Amino acid sequence: MKRYHTTFWGCQMNEADTQRVAAELEKLGYTYTDTAEEADVVVLNTCVVRQSAEDKVYGKLGALKPVKAARPDMVISVMGCLVGHSDKQAQALRKSWPLVDVFMGPSETRPLVDFLRARELDKAAEEFDLSTMVTRYQAQDEELVLPSQDRGRVLANVPIMYGCDHVCTFCIIPYRRGRERSRPLDEIEREVRSLARQGVKEVMLLGQIVDRYGYDHGDYQGLPRLLRRLNSIEELERVRFLTSHPNYMTQDLLETVAELPKVMEHINVPVQAGHDETLRRMKRGYTVEDYRRLIERIRATIPNVAVHTDIIVGFCGETDEHFQGTVDLLRDLKLDKVHLAKYSPRPGTVSAKIMADDVPAEEKERRHEVLNELQSEVGAEINARFEGQTVEVLVEGKHKGKWRGRTRNDKLVFFDDPSRDWTGQLAQVEITWTGPWSMQARLPQPRRAEREVIPLLSV
Ligand code: SAH
Repeated sequence: MKRYHTTFWGCQMNEADTQRVAAELEKLGYTYTDTAEEADVVVLNTCVVRQSAEDKVYGKLGALKPVKAARPDMVISVMGCLVGHSDKQAQALRKSWPLVDVFMGPSETRPLVDFLRARELDKAAEEFDLSTMVTRYQAQDEELVLPSQDRGRVLANVPIMYGCDHVCTFCIIPYRRGRERSRPLDEIEREVRSLARQGVKEVMLLGQIVDRYGYDHGDYQGLPRLLRRLNSIEELERVRFLTSHPNYMTQDLLETVAELPKVMEHINVPVQAGHDETLRRMKRGYTVEDYRRLIERIRATIPNVAVHTDIIVGFCGETDEHFQGTVDLLRDLKLDKVHLAKYSPRPGTVSAKIMADDVPAEEKERRHEVLNELQSEVGAEINARFEGQTVEVLVEGKHKGKWRGRTRNDKLVFFDDPSRDWTGQLAQVEITWTGPWSMQARLPQPRRAEREVIPLLSV
């Protein structure tokens, strides 16, 4: 049982404020105790109208010193007129009374509530003890011979690492897939060489946080190094990787992508939400501003890059205002593709344990629809710029009578040509029609000038 204690000095206003704080604490599941020494959270609401009132506060804090020393988990908050609304005063107090965790001005409750919530979050995340997780690693060093139904496939997915250590509050993956562990570089290279010999032209390198590849071995240039190795495989045409976490997109990695011809101009970097409050509760470890700057840096470093992201709508506590942050972010950044998901509590995750799934299903649906509409406009606008351009497409096969493939920056393109088999080939095609999700193209037409010139020469 979690217990709280409050003491107040001074006027009725302080009494009322103390009551409000108590109400907030009870909402968080705390019950009252009249003994400060036994409490998990102690709130002292102060008065400075007389020196004697002030002295009483210092006396109480002095008495709590040994208690806090014995129980460092105890949270002490000092609020009211001693603190006031000046940061300077709070800073001075912080210096003299380091045992106090939270200072709040008169009538404030938020700083303490936020502090306790954040602590709960950290605790719940800590409780998930990574050391108990599976770290089994089965070497995948046998040659991977594509099973019959996959023979002749142009694309292959290649896991380069397993598990995840990040414990985002919504995410069940670490609980189920164990700790982060990278496959040895040589093993991956061997596998990709073998796949290329079997006809694979493009590989998608997979990891939960793929830009951390190698970090578990202390190799912080793991992914750039791997990309270089794969870039030198002759039969292979293209390399992509998925999914990156914003915090590990080093400049070295971006420059490597820009430099290597076989590594596509295509980055998958999920933001998940466009409001700092939501990101904090998700424990993503970056702010919206950080993400905006990252996208700028990606675009400045890799010409013609396509950026994809993931979004969860309706995460616990996401208000209309928080959601609007996501709308604004996507409208400003105009990313190439957005994978949308409606928040769903997963058993065992931190969010499922300590946060209420409080956005109603219809509201999640509405938000999903809003972003879907927005992204369809953005996609249409981006793709329209390709009209009339000639692009390189790696053809994956036939779909409803047309050749289907993707550009370097992952745009889906269809074109007609009954005369030959394009599977696995790179085609240069001219875009004739664009929509939000795909484009139509044709093989380059012989240029008119040539046709006109020939008869003149032959005269
Ligand atoms: N490693 C990736 C996430 C992999 S899960 C990352 O760092 O972002 C793929 C996507 O599923 C996530 O990006 C997220 O958008 C979505 N997702 C994960 N857990 C979810 C949940 N509980 N409810 C709804 N969507 C979720």
